[in-house]
Amino acid sequence: MKISIESNIQEIEEKIKKACERSNRNREEVKLIAVTKTKPVEVIEEAIDLGLYDIGENRVQEIIEKYDDLNTDDLNWHMIGHLQTNKVKYIIDKVHLIHSLDRLSLAKELNKRARKTDRVIDVLIQVNIAKEESKFGLNKDEIWGFIENIEKYPFIAVKGLMVMAPFDEEAENIRYVFKGAKDLFEEIKKKDIDYIEMKHLSMGMTNDFEVAIEEGSNLIRVGTGIFGKRK
Ligand SMILES: *Cc1c(COP(=O)(O)O)cnc(C)c1O
Repeated sequence: MKISIESNIQEIEEKIKKACERSNRNREEVKLIAVTKTKPVEVIEEAIDLGLYDIGENRVQEIIEKYDDLNTDDLNWHMIGHLQTNKVKYIIDKVHLIHSLDRLSLAKELNKRARKTDRVIDVLIQVNIAKEESKFGLNKDEIWGFIENIEKYPFIAVKGLMVMAPFDEEAENIRYVFKGAKDLFEEIKKKDIDYIEMKHLSMGMTNDFEVAIEEGSNLIRVGTGIFGKRK
């Protein structure tokens, strides 16, 4: 059966609305990022035609390949995957927001490349709340030192946090991850650090975005729910 992107989006829209209602939030507070990894340009164009202008990719190579084929002016490209330092130069002038800042060597490289293109790059710090060995991201106890160190990089602007929850069939089981990320987000915000801004909280994927919204997410990253299963 052919999947219908349009009806998938409508279904997700419904779920977003309901999750917002349950948590007394406005629908406008939550942005849906269409995660297009492994999907061809024609499929992405369909989503764009349906009004999705925020595109998430997790590999530099795919951004480069798709970037020129899509009408890039209206699009916001989100780099959501692990970013290798030596690949920063290929995407620095293409992406709207990098969700995966997880180490100082990457901050340094981003700063250097952004300086060269004469623009400040917006980034989110990736945190690892569940302390999974297999996941990238800073642990809670590493974050304060990291933030202190980031001050010396004026060409990167920290705009919030990103978290990936461990996969669990039962999204309720990982609510604590989203709660933990939100608490940290608020804690950092309260410090009122002048060189960073806590504006975006990127959390929630196909399997768990409703719980993430209930816990305060304002950027959800949905792939499978829109485009169907990846090969
Ligand atoms: C693939 C991916 C997603 C989307 O996952 P789905 O389960 O397909 O919605 C979200 N965030 C990141 C970082 C990803 O790599």
